[in-house]
Amino acid sequence: MNVYDAERMAELMGDEGFELTEDMTDADMVILNTCHIREKAAEKVYSELGRVRKSKENRTETGKNTIVAVAGCVAQAEGEEIIRRAPVVDMVVGPQSYQNLPELLGEFNTSGKPVIETEFPEEDKFKKLAGITASSPSSFVTVQEGCDKFCTFCVVPYTRGGEYSRPVADILEDAKRLVDQGVKELTLLGQNVNAYHGKGQDGKDHSLAALLETLSELNGIERLRFTTSHPNDMQDDLIDAHRDNPKLMPYLHLPFQSGSNRILKAMNRRHTREHYIKLVARIREARPDLALSTDIIVGFPGETDQDFEDTMDLVDRIGYASAYSFKYSSRPGTPAAEHEQQVDEEVKKQRLALLQKRLTSQQKSFNESKVGQQMTVLLEKNGRHEGQLIGRSPYLQSVHVEVEHAKIGDMIDVTIEGATLNSLKAVINPSSSKVTTNELKTLESNQPA
Ligand code: SAH
Ligand code: SF4
Repeated sequence: MNVYDAERMAELMGDEGFELTEDMTDADMVILNTCHIREKAAEKVYSELGRVRKSKENRTETGKNTIVAVAGCVAQAEGEEIIRRAPVVDMVVGPQSYQNLPELLGEFNTSGKPVIETEFPEEDKFKKLAGITASSPSSFVTVQEGCDKFCTFCVVPYTRGGEYSRPVADILEDAKRLVDQGVKELTLLGQNVNAYHGKGQDGKDHSLAALLETLSELNGIERLRFTTSHPNDMQDDLIDAHRDNPKLMPYLHLPFQSGSNRILKAMNRRHTREHYIKLVARIREARPDLALSTDIIVGFPGETDQDFEDTMDLVDRIGYASAYSFKYSSRPGTPAAEHEQQVDEEVKKQRLALLQKRLTSQQKSFNESKVGQQMTVLLEKNGRHEGQLIGRSPYLQSVHVEVEHAKIGDMIDVTIEGATLNSLKAVINPSSSKVTTNELKTLESNQPA
């Protein structure tokens, strides 16, 4: 979602006459879009601001000014504190108010005083962001934001605010605009995307499955994905969609966080390991080749060796194509941060290493299981050398293909020849006819060299 937000900020500032630059010493304005989910991410902001300050000082010597803005969830959570710790910062803008960046910049230019905007304004943020542009044949669209679930470790409900679903018509408008620019794959984004319940044109609330159905009817859309889902919001119609909607890709990110019911309860996850196991069985029945991914936290306060074993056991039972795993990070203001039995950092480190070893081996096996199979790949970017293009398999694996007559945006049929931990190697099938042949001038010119 931060990638999506950063692209929208670039669009907004583009309308004000700014252009993107890769080189900070060239920049009249630097915006750091930040993440507050774990302490490490939040602290990185301050080391990065050190670099920004040096660049600003160098530019000042040559008579040029640099405006420095901090956006995202660290801005939301720390507000004024950021300017106290890093006086180089001119503007602090939360994730629900970045649509006002141009006005805030105007305010700063007029007053010369730091501007702090961390409200959750009533106005529809997305109305102001209309005019999405594509940077790849695979594009993100935010359909839902915020969260009302309050897992005890998590800052999202505080930084992104309460749950909100965009109306179907607005999403459809974005999708059409993206298709017109050559986009073939949409990934619908939301902190709790499967809790989606946006207003349809009939005035009723539509589920995520209904939204996926509507989008799959759009000419030009070849693939649909969504992330991130909560196990408790995995309704029957969404499970059925994995069986019935051929444009919905066989991939699902379904975090379980812990395999121990005791810890799940303390996390306020409101699901059990048994519920999760049954749910996965039902989804796999609907779509047997589904690639499953997850999020796992180790070292949540009070986690014992046995609780951790329960997590390892759940990983073994389910089997993942990929996964994100983290050491629990205490976040100010969340209930778990107050817990007395914080787990020793060294224990967390050891548990994470054990878990990641298991997950890595599952990921490698999953990739290897595809060797010899045929599948369709959407080509998304240039590879390391001439003639090589990189795309995605239906299972979201990165696929490297040597091709002469295909280009970014083409969908080609390939045979998988090799697999590593992080990617597949493939050759194009002699019979492969490109599924669609839209001209992708806009996209190609947006690709970094
Ligand atoms: N809404 C999603 C997750 C959003 S946050 C869900 O409920 O699954 C992304 C991931 O960051 C979480 O799934 C969790 O695994 C991790 N995370 C969140 N807060 C954390 C914390 N305090 N310490 C460690 N990991 C955390
Ligand atoms: Fe955070 Fe996800 Fe829990 Fe919401 S459901 S509080 S975003 S971990």
